Amino acid sequence: MCAIFGVFDVANAAHLTAIGLHNNQHRAIDYAGIVSLGHDGFRHKYGKGLTRQVFDQHALQNLPGTSALGHIRYPTVIDSAKLDNIQPILGQYNGIPFAVAHNGNITNVDELKKLVSPTRMLTSMDTEYIIRLLEDTCTGNIERDLQAVLSIIKGSYVLGILLPDKLIAVRDPSGNRPLSIARLNGGYCISSETCALPNVGATDAYDLGSGSMISFTRGGRTHILFAEQKEQKCRFEGIYYSHPSSVVFGEPVARFRIKLGMALEENCPVEGGADIVSPIPDSSNFIAMGFAESANLNGRPIEHFPVIIRSHYVGRTFIAATQIQRIAEVSQKFTFAEEEIRGKRIVVVDDSIVRGTTLPRIVSVLRKLGAKAVHVRIGSPPIKYPCIYGINTPTEAELIASRHSPKEICKIMDADSLEFLPLEALRKLSLNPDGFCYACMDGNYW
Ligand code: 5GP
Ligand code: SF4
Ligand code: MG
Repeated sequence: MCAIFGVFDVANAAHLTAIGLHNNQHRAIDYAGIVSLGHDGFRHKYGKGLTRQVFDQHALQNLPGTSALGHIRYPTVIDSAKLDNIQPILGQYNGIPFAVAHNGNITNVDELKKLVSPTRMLTSMDTEYIIRLLEDTCTGNIERDLQAVLSIIKGSYVLGILLPDKLIAVRDPSGNRPLSIARLNGGYCISSETCALPNVGATDAYDLGSGSMISFTRGGRTHILFAEQKEQKCRFEGIYYSHPSSVVFGEPVARFRIKLGMALEENCPVEGGADIVSPIPDSSNFIAMGFAESANLNGRPIEHFPVIIRSHYVGRTFIAATQIQRIAEVSQKFTFAEEEIRGKRIVVVDDSIVRGTTLPRIVSVLRKLGAKAVHVRIGSPPIKYPCIYGINTPTEAELIASRHSPKEICKIMDADSLEFLPLEALRKLSLNPDGFCYACMDGNYW
């Protein structure tokens, strides 16, 4: 997963971009880069780690100018986790420098390899093909050339493209990843998620449409619909990836998660009842709230009480590179409210099961602390297939639900019961269910 943030025609552009990236940090924590455009051309700062570490005061002073483009990255291909694989990627268009930042994943790289000589490739990132192909097309009309290049690109992409006189934002025909546009201090900004907009003072936000690009220049903005929409928005943005304070694909994320939790309880109530429901924080906080709300509305009284508290000093554990690191981080990530657990029938809610690293540890601690029963409820259907659209999910062999039935997983977790939100119930939560991708759940790649 990655995020992009860009600013056009605003003072202190790099500083604002660093704030914007920081507020998208939940999407990626490994690498960060900002390219800014000052009087003397492009400057860049790339680094490994969190944005607050990479863009200190010194770094930002060296990134002058009124336009900037930033990217944070979580490599989707582990081999490509090298410093030279940081974005935005720089290129030359008609002798003019430009920079590109990408969130998503191109799925027809094998075809693109035939069009670009390997000696020209400076990184192992799929995004670089867009740059090299644009360099080849180069008629002087960047929007037209971009349309020609994008007509042969498949997969998932939102792009920010910075040139000396403009910033272009692009969202692919599937609209698989979010991208918002907003006004900012007389200029413009673009952000993967809306949660980053209020802190920079951006207003009038809206989603860039699928299959659209927008060019910002000093003279204003121009929209171009470059391809027919065939929407396949990532269903997991709402379930897990996006920030609860964002509005993604037109829906406030926290509200969507409450709806998920309500649907989960309606479809998978706990037989015989339970005393408390707790999220596994933070990802399922709102799902657990919805679960409790539905149970109480339906005469199945339950207390919503978070008995598992997460440490602020550990990041998203999923992002840790190895399984050993992940297990170590899980045991440092949570503490447990022992007094509230003893003698209780507890429902623990999580948003998803991927490898199955987190839950068995949690169930085992709850039992050791005296829980009378531990029921597990998952706010998404089983993840059985890898994502090829920009999320570093594991191979099929590592996905516990591709090898085991829910009953077997319940046994492995040592839970009293374990149920997943049915796919049909998830689909019913959207007005236009066919406009979403469920490939990691149903194997229907597009
Ligand atoms: P597991 O422990 O089963 O391997 O991973 C599931 C946990 O990882 C959930 O708590 C979920 O919040 C979190 N998670 C982190 N990254 C991802 C991701 O990319 N996809 C999904 N579905 N869950 C993730
Ligand atoms: Fe999202 Fe899953 Fe589709 Fe990937 S496969 S884009 S994670 S819904
Ligand atoms: Mg989680």
